[in-house]
Amino acid sequence: MNRITLLSIIWLFLGLSSIQAQPERWQQRVNYEMTIDMDARNHQYNGVQKLTYYNNSPDTLHRIFYHLYFNAFQPGSMMDVRARTMAGGNNRFGDRISKLNPEETGWIKVASLLQNGKKTTFETNETILEVTLAEPILPNSSTVLEMTWNARVPVQIRRSGRDNREGVAYSMSQWYPKLCEYDYQGWHANPYIGQEFYGVWGDFDVKINIDKNFVVAAGGYLQNPQEVGYGYETSGAPLQRPSADKLSWHFKTLNVHDFVWAADPEYTQTKITADDGTIMRFFWKKGKGYDAQWEQLPAVMNRARTIMNQHFGKYPYGEYSFIQGGDGGMEYPMATLMTGNRPLNSLIGVAVHEQLHSWYQMVLGTNESLYGWMDEGFTSYAETIVENELAREGLMGSRKAEENPFAGNYSAYATLATSGKEEPLTTHADHFKSIYAYSIAAYVKGCVFMRQLEYVIGEENVAKGLLRYFDTWKFKHPNSNDLIRVFEKQSGLELDWYKEDFVHTTNTIDYAVKSVEKEGRKTTQVIIERLGEMAMPLDIVVTYTDGDQEIFYAPLEGMRGAKPAESKVTRTILPDHRWVEPTYEFEIPEKAKKVAKVEIDPTRRMADVNLENNVWVKE
Ligand SMILES: [Zn+2]
Repeated sequence: MNRITLLSIIWLFLGLSSIQAQPERWQQRVNYEMTIDMDARNHQYNGVQKLTYYNNSPDTLHRIFYHLYFNAFQPGSMMDVRARTMAGGNNRFGDRISKLNPEETGWIKVASLLQNGKKTTFETNETILEVTLAEPILPNSSTVLEMTWNARVPVQIRRSGRDNREGVAYSMSQWYPKLCEYDYQGWHANPYIGQEFYGVWGDFDVKINIDKNFVVAAGGYLQNPQEVGYGYETSGAPLQRPSADKLSWHFKTLNVHDFVWAADPEYTQTKITADDGTIMRFFWKKGKGYDAQWEQLPAVMNRARTIMNQHFGKYPYGEYSFIQGGDGGMEYPMATLMTGNRPLNSLIGVAVHEQLHSWYQMVLGTNESLYGWMDEGFTSYAETIVENELAREGLMGSRKAEENPFAGNYSAYATLATSGKEEPLTTHADHFKSIYAYSIAAYVKGCVFMRQLEYVIGEENVAKGLLRYFDTWKFKHPNSNDLIRVFEKQSGLELDWYKEDFVHTTNTIDYAVKSVEKEGRKTTQVIIERLGEMAMPLDIVVTYTDGDQEIFYAPLEGMRGAKPAESKVTRTILPDHRWVEPTYEFEIPEKAKKVAKVEIDPTRRMADVNLENNVWVKE
């Protein structure tokens, strides 16, 4: 099948009948066919992999690279050294890798690698396999890469591994030789130090042979449910299990950039067909004290999915699996591995968060190392919206809905921003000086970025812009410029200044009401002072003694326009706020009633790091 035919089939499969104007950027594509044979006694497996790799770039490739993630789980690895030497250490796993016994470490050893049937030259450099090709891959051509390898699953330290703390046998993420991505910025062969991911879009066909007492869960569509059973089978139809000691589990997925699976003899599976027509599967170890929580999860996830589809774009795959495993919560295409022994609030929280990564990472496939904030931050933003709605509907256990559910994010960001430890969002995820600075930047400042964008361009423009972003960039690798362009087009406002200051620098926002003067004048003079380095448009809300309110709005000069009114409160659009000015002055026209209060952004969507000086109240 040629590539054009293949792509059209994929488009049809995904139901993209009307194709919108798509951005012009080439991207590579790879199809994986893998079969592995698991030796569960020794936690080792042999693998055979056949990749069909499409070079859609304008470049001739002479070398290619693969990730070999399991090699990080050895004392002295870059991941181990980094965890032990970074500021404050890596509180997620500290020095645990350095203390692994020889039989607890992980490894991947590549035995052979052929390109179009010819031998390649390859060398393992810790977590990266460097390959010199037998023949160059020309622009707009494809090549077939056939590999054999064997591997050992490490004791679970971070994300993947065996025997996690809740006793799940195998959490199999980052488990196979995974092709590194090549894009307009070149190769991304980053050594794995336990941080972020980036992958090539493609299809997976995976066969897992494992002792028949294991139940396998995966981010993919099982092709042979009647041969394995365990809750996958069509009820009523007879099972046709082979009599061998191992079962062969055959999964396929289309248009993803990774493949995860997990296995445990004690998994129980429940499944539902959600209101959007997709199948949701739930795998957990029954009888460990958390059955009640897991039994309540499907109904809540069904409602959560409906909210997600409405706000962020329609989930494009046919299935999703919530799998007990891993070391907290981690997202993969069509599945999550999450620890499962949790109270209901926490179980729902992690399940909502990880599922939302289906939007921000699994479909909008940003390079997480470069744009962690577009992945974790937007997921946190979406999570806050979804969970607050679930809480409003009484579906978050004891958790109640909040008037401003983002308040905690804003205060956590302000604490970092004023700590002297903040680094710009453009810092490579692997290179932040501390886990604290990385986590708050990616998860919290990224969330604040999107919430604050509501303040800049209006809530409705952000809501519509998020759907437009999804439609424009799904199944691609959007960067921060692609993102901001979508919101520029949506709002008709210029937003480069917002990205440049909030993303590329650690400049902070701090405005103050400097003075409100009526003495000896007809009008009331208000002076706003800019104390922070970053300038913002100003929503100044005036409250009169009779309780009436009025908004005075000063767009930032660089926006080249004004955001639409967001409420029915009378709004006066003032002259532009020029970012160079240390102060901004305006007059409140003469009125019979007196000014009682002047406040900058009472919605608290502007990330002002010092809120104490934002309000003036008449004595
Ligand atoms: Zn996340």
